[in-house]
Amino acid sequence: MSRYEAVIGLEVHAQLLTRTKAFCSCATAFGAPPNTQVCPTCLGLPGALPVLNGKAVELAVRTALALDCAVRQESIFARKNYFYPDLPKGYQISQYDRPFSEHGHLDITVEKKGAEAVTKRAGITRVHMEEDAGKNTHDRGDVSVVDLNRSGTALVEIVGDPDLRSADEAVEYLKTVREILVFIGVNDGNLEEGSFRCDANVSIRPVGESKFGTRTELKNINSFKFVREAINYEIARQESVLECGGKIIQETRGWDEKASKTFSMRSKEEAQDYRYFPEPDLPPLVITEAFIETVRSTMPELPVAKRARFVRDHKQTPYAAQVLTTHPEVARFYEEAGALHGDFVKVGNFVQGEVLRDVRTSGLSATFPVTASQVAELLKLVDAGDISGKQAKEVYGKMVGTSKTPREWVSELGMQQVTDAAAINTVCQRVVDANPKQAEALKTGKVAMFGYFVGQVMKETKGSANPQMVNDALKRILGV
Ligand SMILES: [Zn+2]
Repeated sequence: MSRYEAVIGLEVHAQLLTRTKAFCSCATAFGAPPNTQVCPTCLGLPGALPVLNGKAVELAVRTALALDCAVRQESIFARKNYFYPDLPKGYQISQYDRPFSEHGHLDITVEKKGAEAVTKRAGITRVHMEEDAGKNTHDRGDVSVVDLNRSGTALVEIVGDPDLRSADEAVEYLKTVREILVFIGVNDGNLEEGSFRCDANVSIRPVGESKFGTRTELKNINSFKFVREAINYEIARQESVLECGGKIIQETRGWDEKASKTFSMRSKEEAQDYRYFPEPDLPPLVITEAFIETVRSTMPELPVAKRARFVRDHKQTPYAAQVLTTHPEVARFYEEAGALHGDFVKVGNFVQGEVLRDVRTSGLSATFPVTASQVAELLKLVDAGDISGKQAKEVYGKMVGTSKTPREWVSELGMQQVTDAAAINTVCQRVVDANPKQAEALKTGKVAMFGYFVGQVMKETKGSANPQMVNDALKRILGV
């Protein structure tokens, strides 16, 4: 047991899903040729003036409300001054001492080995709006290049309170934030492309101590796995420094994926180093109560509420509800198929067992192997006894990527279950007549022989006979 406890606070930078940038009308689409989505404003040319994107404000307010933050009716933009090649203006437009929202919280589920999972509430210090910088690339030998397509893209920064006590809690917090942002449609949650990024402030202190230790800031860690590894590494590193009588230096550290260790990047800037001052080119941001209420009333359902509803109204297990809400489009598909079919549990099972395997997601969109109505119709054929559950899986496999209806596939595959009693009776009688020895064995107590007859009938009907009707007919004919 360590003498120390970790204190972790996360800062999340999430790009808002607006078509245009925060302060100009340049497009934000990812992957365009470098420096093609730029204009005098986002290039920082003299004289160009910023104009705030209204959609960005709406998405930012949605974010704040989803995190239970209080929204300030009047906030101000500030200039954060620093010099870096990816920042053509020499400053970033951000918010500083009067952000548009503060004092929120987030509930996360913390699993403890050998104990029941508990819900932990983590505070959200603030959510503020700012613009993204461009992107430097240093992989061309002596030359570094900069792409300013990203420069000026609207971001929210979500600053969490230092309430997290382990790397696992930090990862859970991050996953929960990401899930909320994706479900409310403000961010595509893409860590690899950098539209969802995270910095972690990590310090340790002796157990029982209430003062915070000196923290280091881990920058831009681009996967959940690396977040866990980097924080665990940093906690262990700080412990060993203190145990050897050393002091933690306040600094910014990066994560070296190959060496699996953090490394010092630079000494941490203090706020005064950025010479913040109010942005003179933008008026105060006024968010009226009426606007907040409009955003609140159009807020998409949060993932936690969705899962609770699936359990309560659809009778799903908590586990199934979790699986069916792994992505907003998966939840939408399941609900659509469930409504068309009527039995949400049956549909949920089929979606989990078959469909999910073939779903491909990319950001907020997803591609499905079949349509919701194909699934609903397929399961109705099972309900009607036209095909078995096993056959339904086979039909599903054929249906993937085609627009043919399940019924069309069933007839094409010759699967229609024979439910005609007279026809089944005829086949059963023929099978019994053709196997007198086996019939005799069954009658004299060889019970297992019954399965032989069922098998023969199924073979003759190529598996199309209704199994229950075959059982009934054979029992009657054989007198067992
Ligand atoms: Zn621009």
